[in-house]
Amino acid sequence: MNLNRRVRVRFAPSPTGPLHIGGVRTALYNYLFAKKHQGDFILRIEDTDQNRLVPGAEQYIIDALQWVGIGPNEGVGFGDGEFSSYRQSERKDSYRQYAEKLITNGYAYYAFDTEEELAQLRTANANAKYDYTTRGKLNNALTLSADEVAMKLAKKVPYVIRLNIPANEEITFHDEIRGNVTVNTLEMDDKVLLKSDGMPTYHLANVCDDYVMNISHVIRGEEWLPSAPIHVLLYRYLGWEEVMPKFAHLPLLLKPDGNGKLSKRDGDRLGFPVFPLQWTDPNTNEVSSGYKQNGYLPEALVNMLAFLGWNPGGTKEIYSLEELIGAFTLDRISHGGAKFDAEKAKWFNHEYLKSKSNEELSILVKSLVDEHFGPFSSAYIAAVCALVKDRMFLLNDILNYRYLFQNPASYDEVNLGKIKSIKEGLPFADLNLALQSMAGNNSLEIEKLFQDFAAEKSIKMGDLMKFLRVSLVGELSGPAIPDLIALIGIENAIERIKNCYIQ
Ligand code: GLU
Repeated sequence: MNLNRRVRVRFAPSPTGPLHIGGVRTALYNYLFAKKHQGDFILRIEDTDQNRLVPGAEQYIIDALQWVGIGPNEGVGFGDGEFSSYRQSERKDSYRQYAEKLITNGYAYYAFDTEEELAQLRTANANAKYDYTTRGKLNNALTLSADEVAMKLAKKVPYVIRLNIPANEEITFHDEIRGNVTVNTLEMDDKVLLKSDGMPTYHLANVCDDYVMNISHVIRGEEWLPSAPIHVLLYRYLGWEEVMPKFAHLPLLLKPDGNGKLSKRDGDRLGFPVFPLQWTDPNTNEVSSGYKQNGYLPEALVNMLAFLGWNPGGTKEIYSLEELIGAFTLDRISHGGAKFDAEKAKWFNHEYLKSKSNEELSILVKSLVDEHFGPFSSAYIAAVCALVKDRMFLLNDILNYRYLFQNPASYDEVNLGKIKSIKEGLPFADLNLALQSMAGNNSLEIEKLFQDFAAEKSIKMGDLMKFLRVSLVGELSGPAIPDLIALIGIENAIERIKNCYIQ
């Protein structure tokens, strides 16, 4: 390969549903590789299988890449390059010439077999493939005379174009992750390249587009490894082997127990999202959760996904996108599957949440707060964040802190029982006075004043705090009482205590 070849990589999903996090990881590795080499990252939509298209899936893919922050610089939804379209259905007419060139050179052939004839082939032998063992008995240009073929074409008898796979040939190609891979053509079948409606299949469209779009590296999931020898043959037969992209097949993303591939159906069933954004199935209206809506930060998702199947060595785990770009190399991608770890995903998110300033975090949780607790000033929300961010794993954890925004709606009998004696022994008026004297103090000063107050009233500081905790929070949990009072303010604290007294 020309060493100076510009790096051009593509993410080429089929819009048959929402993007799964395995797909996001593939896109991310392409993005990191392109940025590392100052190359191009392209989004190509492979929609040649029109029967499997799902409405909204293409837009979902675009939105997801945008939210994750790994937008391509060329392709559908992301700015024009030199091609009129990056959607294969709109490039339909460009592929036939290549299929015909293969026919001319003897590497492909017309096949006129009807559905019934193909079904018969399988009835005779369930494992039968359309290959060197069967093609000689089937209805195609290899068994028909040239005149018969010409006549069928003239009469517009439906046909497909199939790749003429040689028998018993070793195909070897280099994979950047796995090294040399060899497959014997005996294991392959004569793949359809062009369908009867004139649409190319995945194999033809994918290879032609990679060639035409000057793709330098194909970085894709391991499930495409069996397709690679077919693609290598296509490059060879089309005379493009010189510029064939380098291949890198990424390890599978596995379920947390390592038992099989993480599938689109696993997500909510196993208790974590498998989609970057929430997705509503247009046919069933079933809603699947998304990382965004569950309160993950895109940078945490990126960091977590980058480490699922790759690592830069060493013990450092928190890498910004810039650092990932700097460190990323294909040779550090692992060979074996990577087990998804939902707890680790939360840990990454926690680390990123903690590293935000209170102001940054307040902007991120503002809409959640407004929606659930009513409007609050950004300054107040930032003060709440300062108090709780060390305990937040998801942005949505802010919703666990209703009492930092609203008075307790009611008091639980059990908790009231626990503070009964102190409530009866300590008049509200005394506490009210003590609290009023605290106005304008910070939490350290408030704590000191409570110690003095407890000593003066001969009550244990622990009992006093328990009483205040129940009256201010409604339950026996939450941040330190002086911090809480400094946050909600003296007036509101007095109001809450009063409410508790009248229970
Ligand atoms: N359209 C294929 C997919 O859905 C693309 C595979 C490839 O990158 O070659 O993933």
